[in-house]
Amino acid sequence: MMPAPPWLAEATSALVSAQRSGRLSHALLIHEAPGAGGDWLATWAARLVLCQNPERAPCGSCPGCLRVAAYQHPDLTLVRPLEDSRQIRIEQVRELSAELALTSHGGGYKVGLITPADALNRFAANALLKTLEEPSPRTLLLLVATQPSRLPPTVVSRCQRLRLRAPAREEGVAWLTAARGAADWGAALDAIGEAPLLVADADPAALAAVGADTRDTLEGLTAGSTDPVTAAERWARSELPLRLLCFENWLTERVRRGAREGAFLAEMRAAPYLSGPGAFLNIRGLFGLINEVQDLRAALDVPLNRGVALEALFRRLAPAERARGGGQG
Ligand SMILES: [Zn+2]
Repeated sequence: MMPAPPWLAEATSALVSAQRSGRLSHALLIHEAPGAGGDWLATWAARLVLCQNPERAPCGSCPGCLRVAAYQHPDLTLVRPLEDSRQIRIEQVRELSAELALTSHGGGYKVGLITPADALNRFAANALLKTLEEPSPRTLLLLVATQPSRLPPTVVSRCQRLRLRAPAREEGVAWLTAARGAADWGAALDAIGEAPLLVADADPAALAAVGADTRDTLEGLTAGSTDPVTAAERWARSELPLRLLCFENWLTERVRRGAREGAFLAEMRAAPYLSGPGAFLNIRGLFGLINEVQDLRAALDVPLNRGVALEALFRRLAPAERARGGGQG
């Protein structure tokens, strides 16, 4: 396993005390900021209950802990979208439920880890409800999601929610350096935001390059100097999922900057005077775009013309469109 992200220390100690006092919930929904370490924490929680040294669980070195870390433990079932799919399907949930209903190999817990849980399609989420409503004793279900709002409320309400916020920049850089060695981690984080666990799997220089290229495109579109059609075709051809993450980060940065500069407050007081062609999108427009970028990311496996969807988004950044009120959300 990667070294423990220090910003998760509060969450891990809460889980240890819950486990030791017999109050550990049978279903945890780990709601993470992207790349904040949801999968890391879920795997850690699986080791907590499957470790063979209960007094210092998770010890990290017993066969139980090592098998969990390698996703090879017979009492741990991992559910992820199947290859070439961004969805978790009902058959996968049925298999998980059948597995959890069996007696555990080690005489202890049975653990199901669903990640990302917001990839459960509607039918799969409904199938999961039964397991959540009538859990077998000593069952631990771990759901990791960045957007739990994509899950049915009936599923969310049956889980104990654990919120993981994004770490500060210095914490992320320090952890990446410990995990992967020295590199320009700051430039890599600039591309997709404070998501060190996502960055940890990537080549930092390549990530920084895609991030810089993506920013150039977006700034060119905003200035009216980049053609939306050409840009959309280019993005659709290469690194689209990564570029969409960069796009979302770029928009989020604009929300933060606006909030820092008090722009939105002024906008609420005097909206008509601030929405001229020079002004960037207002806060509703920005949040609207963030939602649409997230929807596009969630729908990447659905056959659609990605170029056309992107082009529509890009056109809303263009100065002429903003002047017409296209940025009003
Ligand atoms: Zn152990």
